[in-house]
Amino acid sequence: MSVGQRLLALWRGHPATTPPVEPEPVSVPAAALQVWLDDNARVLRLAGPLRSALALPAQAQGRLQDYVQPCSLLVLEGEPMDWQGQPLDLDFKAVGGTTLHTRGWLQQQAGQWLLQVFDVGDLLQHRQQSLIAERQRHLTSHLACAVRDCSIECLEAVAKEQLQWLARHWQAAGVQVVLQRGEGWQTYVASGDVLHAPSDEALSPVLSMLAPGQVFSSATHVHLQPLFPGIAACLVPFASGLQVKAWLICFRPGQPLLGGDALNLFGAYAEPLLGRLQAFELEQQSERLDSLQAQLGAGWWQWRLITPTLQLDPGLAQRLGVPAQLTLSQWLSRVHPADREAAQLALGQLQCEGCDLELTLRLLDNKLQANPRWYRLCGQVRGNGPQRRLQGLMLDISDSKAQQLQAAAAQARLENLIASSPAVIYIQRYSEGALHAEFFSASLQPMLGWEAPQEGVLQPGQWVHPQDQSLWLERTRTLLREGQVRSRYRLRDRQGGYHWVLDEARLLRDDLGLPVEVVGIWLDVSEATEAAEKMRESEERYRVLVEDSPAMICRYTAALELVFGNQPLADYLECSPAQLPGINLGQWMSASQREMFVQRLASLTPEHPVSTAEICLELPGREHAWWVWSDRGLFDERGKLLEIQAVGRDNTQVRRTRQQLVQSAKMATLGEMATGLAHEINQPLNVMRMAVVNALKRLENGEAQVDYLQDKLKRIDAQVQRASRVVEHMRVFGRRSEVDQHLFAPWQAVEGALSLLGDGLRGKGVDLRIDTPEEGLQVSGHQDQLEQVLINLLVNARDALLARREHSALAPWIALRLEQDPDQVRLLVEDNGGGIDPRLLERIFEPFFTTKPVGVGTGLGLSVSYGIVDAMGGSLSVENGDEGARFCIELPVHSTS
Ligand code: ADP
Repeated sequence: MSVGQRLLALWRGHPATTPPVEPEPVSVPAAALQVWLDDNARVLRLAGPLRSALALPAQAQGRLQDYVQPCSLLVLEGEPMDWQGQPLDLDFKAVGGTTLHTRGWLQQQAGQWLLQVFDVGDLLQHRQQSLIAERQRHLTSHLACAVRDCSIECLEAVAKEQLQWLARHWQAAGVQVVLQRGEGWQTYVASGDVLHAPSDEALSPVLSMLAPGQVFSSATHVHLQPLFPGIAACLVPFASGLQVKAWLICFRPGQPLLGGDALNLFGAYAEPLLGRLQAFELEQQSERLDSLQAQLGAGWWQWRLITPTLQLDPGLAQRLGVPAQLTLSQWLSRVHPADREAAQLALGQLQCEGCDLELTLRLLDNKLQANPRWYRLCGQVRGNGPQRRLQGLMLDISDSKAQQLQAAAAQARLENLIASSPAVIYIQRYSEGALHAEFFSASLQPMLGWEAPQEGVLQPGQWVHPQDQSLWLERTRTLLREGQVRSRYRLRDRQGGYHWVLDEARLLRDDLGLPVEVVGIWLDVSEATEAAEKMRESEERYRVLVEDSPAMICRYTAALELVFGNQPLADYLECSPAQLPGINLGQWMSASQREMFVQRLASLTPEHPVSTAEICLELPGREHAWWVWSDRGLFDERGKLLEIQAVGRDNTQVRRTRQQLVQSAKMATLGEMATGLAHEINQPLNVMRMAVVNALKRLENGEAQVDYLQDKLKRIDAQVQRASRVVEHMRVFGRRSEVDQHLFAPWQAVEGALSLLGDGLRGKGVDLRIDTPEEGLQVSGHQDQLEQVLINLLVNARDALLARREHSALAPWIALRLEQDPDQVRLLVEDNGGGIDPRLLERIFEPFFTTKPVGVGTGLGLSVSYGIVDAMGGSLSVENGDEGARFCIELPVHSTS
């Protein structure tokens, strides 16, 4: 058995089956030690080459236990006798505090014990290293698998978990993984205590400087020291190619990080991690790209020149409704016929000459008919030989194309509009303090007749009317001073005529505020200017008309306050026209007049804005004035009355004449009634005379008793009262009517008329059929005038009855009754006098129309009556009843009594 074999056998724990009986010092290997012991394990002698390496105990003849490390004391329990027959692994204390690892055995030799051991330090170290390497391999593959095999959602969590595991492995306080992102570095995950870690921003520049392939310590590296003050940190790189892609920063590791191990471990962690992150990023990028392409309607296309087919991006092919692989002719059949030839030529050129392709074309849809969509086709030649291919991008530009077409159409319309409008757009360039015409829109020709000017030849200033040249110069000065101007002047056209133009110009400045150019517009306002001039003239005429009019013209508010009034109105109100505004018209009216006036204004509407009425005013120092007054209301768009324009005419004279007429008609009526009245007065006189005669007779005969005389005197008194009532009423009736109207019950007028005529009529045998109403509604007017109307009607009826009775036997009657509705009362006067000839019915209200003999009839009765009823807002009408005429007085009700 060779020494090597023996050693190997020893190492495997199988001592040589036949241990040498004799020590063979000569053949002892270099790494051997021989120790002779007595039965108590006291060392008697040492021999062998390893002897010099031992650290000898202080005392001589020490025990074997004193030579070994404490860990070997277990092996040496008991006496040498117990130790034989088995391999002994002993760690001897060696010089310099080191350990000598040995394996050997014990033999009995000549009453002594011989311990022979060999140095197995190398073998142990080797085994330990391979164990460590094995463990390292296991670790790395575990790390790599964990990071590689987890789902992408858990990647970060798993990466952190594995990092924790690494931290534990290195017994580090904290670890942190920093990845390269774009230009800088960014912490991806961290575990444990990384509170004192520098920020990514601080780390980035330093990390970019460090070279791959070695582990850096913060304590020794000059750039790392300031980043990790007082913190022990190791930085482990992971590189792909020559570039570091990731760093692991390990804070305060429990054991020193061995470069190779650390690099390996971190490599096993970082490589799959970066790979997966990169793959995920690529996946996302491609997703983004796909979605972008789908949104843009874009996609790639490729044509390998050795194959006849064209390849399309699947998304694009789907949108176009074609297969992702199609022949060139199939594809061309989808191109709009109008663009097909251009597409064919461009592809051919790209194929032969290799120049870039850029084409805009329309592609038809599946049905090859509906609206084609616009695409931009770009392409380039790539690769050589069999790899030579055309590839490029197709982009749906239908939207922008449609907008482009719309914009072009709008621009064309605008240009057309400007060219044909009565406006010229111009630009003047600013240079050295002056403005030079640079551009005129084409509308210059139709507006002024000038052709598009040659540069510098036509300056607008030379077209300006000589009288307006100062305006033109002022316009330019203002424009340069204030930046914008609006002016109006005349420009000469080609035929020598002048146009009024409205010039709106604005000065544009550059970034520094210096003038650059003027953009302006000329608007031909000749027509408007002339129209305004005409309007001004007509307004002037209108003003003169209003001021010089003999009629009163004014404007006033709904509160009756004057805004304007002309001279005639001012004359009536005894002031000057300038003093009129502010005067309240209501102050000249009585309360009832004012109320009626305001009520009438309230009835004006935008549909019926005009109203005319006769109003009565009490003017300063004058009698009542009667004005015929026409109002027109002016309304805003919501129908609110803003102002009233009024025209008035003084009707006082007419009114007075009419009053006189009524008065004279009244007197005439009284005259006509005279016979009746004589009867009315005669009757009581007769009765009184009879009473007096009879009383005297009795007195003369001495038969006059007191009772008799009393009775006669009472009768006389009653008759006196009756006569005085008639006379009193006549007096009242004969008076002039008051100015203001009053409210009264119409039946009172009937009773008044009957008090004057009743007895007379009855005396003539006329049956008066009076239908007295319960109570009446009230009307507005003058009671005496209505009474006058009724007297006229009764007198006419009486005349007709008496005339008829002359020819035939007749029981004459006159019926008087009142009918009333809530808003109207009707007084009906009917007789059985035979009525009116139907041919005359229309004429009987005319003044001076009468059928009565001259000297009897005046022909004014009905005419005046008509006027009276009309003034009360009512109407007087007539019709023939069964036996005679039936007159009807209709009056509006004002209020209930
Ligand atoms: P005058 O009584 O003075 O003639 P009026 O105007 O009162 O004037 O009447 C005009 C005419 O109308 C009368 O002349 C008469 O012919 C006719 N007339 C008026 N009332 C009646 C009546 N109740 N019956 C018949 N004729 C009438």
